[in-house]
Amino acid sequence: MKPTAIFTYLSQESTIDYEGHLSLLMFTAGCNFQCRYCHNPELIPKKKESVSVKELQNILFRAKNNWIDAVSISGGEPTMSPYLEETLRIVKSFGFHIKLDTQGSFPDILQNALPYLDYVAMDYKMPMEKLSHVTQTKISKNSILRSIHLLKESGVDYEIRTTVVPGLQTDSDMIQICKEIAPVQKFVLQHFVPRENLPDPSYQKKPRTPLPLLESYQSICKEYIEQTIIR
Ligand code: SF4
Repeated sequence: MKPTAIFTYLSQESTIDYEGHLSLLMFTAGCNFQCRYCHNPELIPKKKESVSVKELQNILFRAKNNWIDAVSISGGEPTMSPYLEETLRIVKSFGFHIKLDTQGSFPDILQNALPYLDYVAMDYKMPMEKLSHVTQTKISKNSILRSIHLLKESGVDYEIRTTVVPGLQTDSDMIQICKEIAPVQKFVLQHFVPRENLPDPSYQKKPRTPLPLLESYQSICKEYIEQTIIR
């Protein structure tokens, strides 16, 4: 029997997830982190993939006829899906551009996926020595650093991104992050947006990241990474 396709949830098409593209959003379930501010906490536990290859092909066929030119795969952590490579192969066979979101824990899987990918957005949430405070799980420093190295060597466009949370990172944390990742193609500072279902209840009450804080960190980071942007 053919394997089921990668994703657990399919979302509406998006004009903002993959810059310059109208993309179909796919979400996988299962993540080895438990980030305090995870926006998709329902996708942290593993769930059964629920879409067959035939259904995936039908979805992609319809998307192609609706001017969608890209597929954006997020999660959860997509590189934990045993069907990632098969799904990428099918998606690519329709001619879509593919963007993958990852936190970099599984460099071997990322390496196998890279030939199919047109863009990768990789999280780098905190300086490495403090990362497990955010993820609330053990992390493999070497795996994450190797993923960044693979991206740099791959020739695939990519960004490294940090969600700036009020009261979480300090100026020196941001400097440390830049030192650990530089040089990179693009460094993105993202807003934190509070929600009711965030895994750490104390984060549910934090304010949205104020623009002056992002601008201040942008100015600090530009000293190390010229292409630092706010999103
Ligand atoms: S890595 Fe992403 S999906 Fe996983 S827990 Fe953290 S924010 Fe959520």
